[in-house]
Amino acid sequence: MMAAVSWPVALAAAGLAMLSSGPAAAQPVGTVPAAPINLDRPYSKGTPAEIPIRLKTISPGFHMLTGRGGNALAVVTPAGLVLVDSKLMYPAAYAEMKLALRRVGAPDTPILAYVTHHHADHSGGNGFVLADGARLIGQQQMPPLLGSYTSRIAPINPSPPNVIFDRLHVETPGGMRIEAHHWGPGHTAADTVVFFPARRIVAAGGLVYGNGEIAVDIVEGRGSLFGMLARVDDLLRLEFDIAVPGTGDNVLTRAEVILYRARLAELIRRLQAAVRAGADAPGLLRAVKTDDLGFRLVGHFWTEPRFMDPIYRELVQSTATKP
Ligand SMILES: [Zn+2]
Repeated sequence: MMAAVSWPVALAAAGLAMLSSGPAAAQPVGTVPAAPINLDRPYSKGTPAEIPIRLKTISPGFHMLTGRGGNALAVVTPAGLVLVDSKLMYPAAYAEMKLALRRVGAPDTPILAYVTHHHADHSGGNGFVLADGARLIGQQQMPPLLGSYTSRIAPINPSPPNVIFDRLHVETPGGMRIEAHHWGPGHTAADTVVFFPARRIVAAGGLVYGNGEIAVDIVEGRGSLFGMLARVDDLLRLEFDIAVPGTGDNVLTRAEVILYRARLAELIRRLQAAVRAGADAPGLLRAVKTDDLGFRLVGHFWTEPRFMDPIYRELVQSTATKP
């Protein structure tokens, strides 16, 4: 539909207008949104772009949205819709998310939104959220991370949040308390966890992935393998019963997050043992058994030397200081 070079212009002129007040917003419930996703674009290769959006109601007014990137959580509050994460940077994906919400009778335009981290499968739709007039909350290290970000899954860098916080940010739309927490480096240096204490539901972002996925962006995202474990411990201090993972098809119970934490600790223990036994960085994953842990260590974070080398250095440092 549009040439790749015209994306920024197209987003402003066609995509955002279509989403905020144009034809897509006016469509009756049940019609397919315009502007089909173009899977031939290079930034859609190897991403979950091709998976359609599915809505799962996990609790009254709490809707998890899978597909077209990372998971989003849409929450209907007395004051309006609150959105956690905005998926890939496709106007059609954002329209598809709105369509899914209209089909369950939910409002489709966020008044307030959160971005759990800067990767474009979670933050790609930030521009659409802002164009809808929502306040977009993110951790204060996210704007600089986005500034130096070079995503292969977005045509331009996602928009930064327009409200930033450091450790804790509280909103109460319509009287519903929402806490945004940041505890330190994990999946990235700017991870945000969004907690709904009255409903005991948490959106865990990149700290907890489903479907056996786990990823640590140490280089560009300034995350940390050992930080991931510490952050999951921080997460478990919140009194939640249900966690919405950053990826994966299903929510996790608290017991499943505890199990995820134990498996992550065991993975790190095995990686440390392999380093002590003399494995080098390129051979590290071959030296470690992971299939019984339920993790699939795949994707560029686990294959490219620029990501694996710093993970290896973290492990070497840990084995040197904790023999
Ligand atoms: Zn991520």
